[in-house]
Amino acid sequence: MARLNSVKMTYAINRTGEIVSIDNVDNGLECNCICIDCNGQLEAKQGAKNQWHFSHHKDNDAINCQWSGESELHIKVKEYLDRYKRLTVPIGFTNPTSLDIQFDEIQLEKSLRPTKRIPDVTGYCAGEKILIEVKVTHEVDQQKRIDYKKVNVSVIELDFSDFTFIDTRIIDQEIDLYFRNPICNWLTVAPVGDIASQFQEHERAVTKELIVNNQNLLREAGAMVDYINSYRRRYEMSKSRIKDASERLEEVKNQIHHAKSERNEIIHSAAGLFNSTLDQLQRDHAVRLTAEFNENHRLLNAELNEINVVIKSKKDELAQIQHIIDQQDNKVNEIRKAEKQLNIEKNNFHQRELDWNKAAKANAVIKRHFMRLEPELRGMCRKGGIPWPFEGTLMEELSPSKDNAQ
Ligand SMILES: [Zn+2]
Repeated sequence: MARLNSVKMTYAINRTGEIVSIDNVDNGLECNCICIDCNGQLEAKQGAKNQWHFSHHKDNDAINCQWSGESELHIKVKEYLDRYKRLTVPIGFTNPTSLDIQFDEIQLEKSLRPTKRIPDVTGYCAGEKILIEVKVTHEVDQQKRIDYKKVNVSVIELDFSDFTFIDTRIIDQEIDLYFRNPICNWLTVAPVGDIASQFQEHERAVTKELIVNNQNLLREAGAMVDYINSYRRRYEMSKSRIKDASERLEEVKNQIHHAKSERNEIIHSAAGLFNSTLDQLQRDHAVRLTAEFNENHRLLNAELNEINVVIKSKKDELAQIQHIIDQQDNKVNEIRKAEKQLNIEKNNFHQRELDWNKAAKANAVIKRHFMRLEPELRGMCRKGGIPWPFEGTLMEELSPSKDNAQ
């Protein structure tokens, strides 16, 4: 965004005293123009490279000149109002609405010095005069306001203090854009006239609305006061309850403190009692344990003695048993000896049996001889008339078993 001090001069006064644009003059000194501010001779610079502009022909003029970008902006604003003769202004001081004014006539002040008591633009609308001031860096001073008020005239100030533009030349589109929604405020409003009646009507409506709003607010405030009062009552009750509770808390704290002290004393004395009781119990317990131990020792000794008696009797029994075993052993030895002897006898008997068998066999042979001889012998006896000399048979008579059998 360009700044006002970088804006180049594009307007000047021509030979006939009219304000002309750089676009509508000849190049160089042929432009025949003078400076709007210092009336010094100007030269038109219509080069191919730079933005077209005027410059002072004499350096001395340029040094003393008070022309600035603000001067250029003033001309642009005046040109717009002169061309379109319209302005949107606010109506009312509170919640303002807007009013589109279409001027019947516009008069421009050619002077640019902001300190003079001459408005930048004077507009007429249905016979009512409205002064227009352009504020860029210098706003209307207090004395000028008072002077305006004295003559009962309506004055509106157009505020360009935040106005921005894109190049070193202020273009018409930027001014158009500003006037679509201009930043302006009334420095003073005449007591009579259309603007004044519009203001009064607006203010009446606003006042009415304010009264309604005020009544609503009063109702709300009343309700709020009721609420606050009830809340305050509750607050006072709560405060009182809190105070009571605090006092009770303090009492309880004291009680707790006393109880703690008592408890500590009790614990202390109980600990002493406990320790002495414990000592006594330990002593009693030791005595009881010793007595029990002695009794147990005595009982165990008695049991031991009984057991010793039993062992002694068992030992005696064992000795008897040993004695019996020894006797049995002796008997066994005797039996063994007897058995040995019996075996010897058995062998002797067997030998005799063998001998007997041998004798029996020999006897059988003899017996067979006798049995074979007996008939012959009996025959010889009978033939010889000799009786049989034996009671039985020859065999029976001669058998050795006959003697043995008897
Ligand atoms: Zn100048």
